[in-house]
Amino acid sequence: MSFSGKATIISILRASIHDGPGIRTTVFFKGCPLRCGWCHNPESWSSEPQLFFNRDKCVDCMACVGVCPTGAHQIEQDRHMVKFGLCIACGKCVEACYYEALSIFGQKLDVEAIFDEVKSDMDFYTMSGGGVTLSGGEPMLQPEAASELLKKCREAGIHTCIETCGYAPEKNYKKILPYVDTFLFDYKDTDSARHKKLTGVSNELILSNLDFLYKKNAWIILRCPLIPSVNDTEDHLKGIAELSKKYPLLEGIEIMPYHNLGISKGTGIGLEGRQLMLENTSRQTKDEWSCILKKFGCINFKIN
Ligand code: SF4
Ligand code: SF4
Repeated sequence: MSFSGKATIISILRASIHDGPGIRTTVFFKGCPLRCGWCHNPESWSSEPQLFFNRDKCVDCMACVGVCPTGAHQIEQDRHMVKFGLCIACGKCVEACYYEALSIFGQKLDVEAIFDEVKSDMDFYTMSGGGVTLSGGEPMLQPEAASELLKKCREAGIHTCIETCGYAPEKNYKKILPYVDTFLFDYKDTDSARHKKLTGVSNELILSNLDFLYKKNAWIILRCPLIPSVNDTEDHLKGIAELSKKYPLLEGIEIMPYHNLGISKGTGIGLEGRQLMLENTSRQTKDEWSCILKKFGCINFKIN
């Protein structure tokens, strides 16, 4: 299939300071092969545009009920309910809702248009050592769009990062490799069976891609989300330490402690009950992780 020249994205975030060095523009791609219960961006899971419903803004006026061609808006005991499984994301109800309780997550944009927006902050990148970061979702599910955008940025002298879960065919990484300055590469669990239980996929392909990129001399920051009582086991912390020794030229290892920011977004797209609902990670827990990582000889790590 030939490339349409478009990328399906959720949003473009300018002036971001959390997705790589300096001030950056982060492009959030839509679609992800993993289903992590702690995901901050569950609206990125589906590859298709989808409806978001903000219950807090809804006044039960029922204006949306009459315009929906599929009957996705329903009335139950005088309250407005959304049957997300019926929605085809046509957007008619979004226009009908006066209270802005409805919106569509996801749009198909020309790569050229995305690039135009990215390059408009060139002065900030130059001043801060920043650039562009492709995130998601998983940009490697759209390798043509991702490589096209990265190539344009590279040619314009913009520093490029890509945030990846590592779960995509090796050929996709080969395709973007010439245009990426830094990989922000996720590593979620050392035990493959538990990895599958927590994310929906096992970790062999992820480890194989990490090995491939490392041997190609890619600049890699390993990012490890740690979720208290879920994947912060001694064997996983030991596994992270082992990777730090196996790959001593990693740019660094960042431990990403769990926080519960993604829950309200998940509820708004019909994912109630499919996400973990935990307390944010305490200072004490982070200190304990740090001690265990040091005990296993982990090098070059920091806890965010
Ligand atoms: S986006 Fe279209 S199909 Fe989905 S709920 Fe709204 S009107 Fe119905
Ligand atoms: S139109 Fe908006 S405010 Fe009215 S019931 Fe639908 S979602 Fe709620």
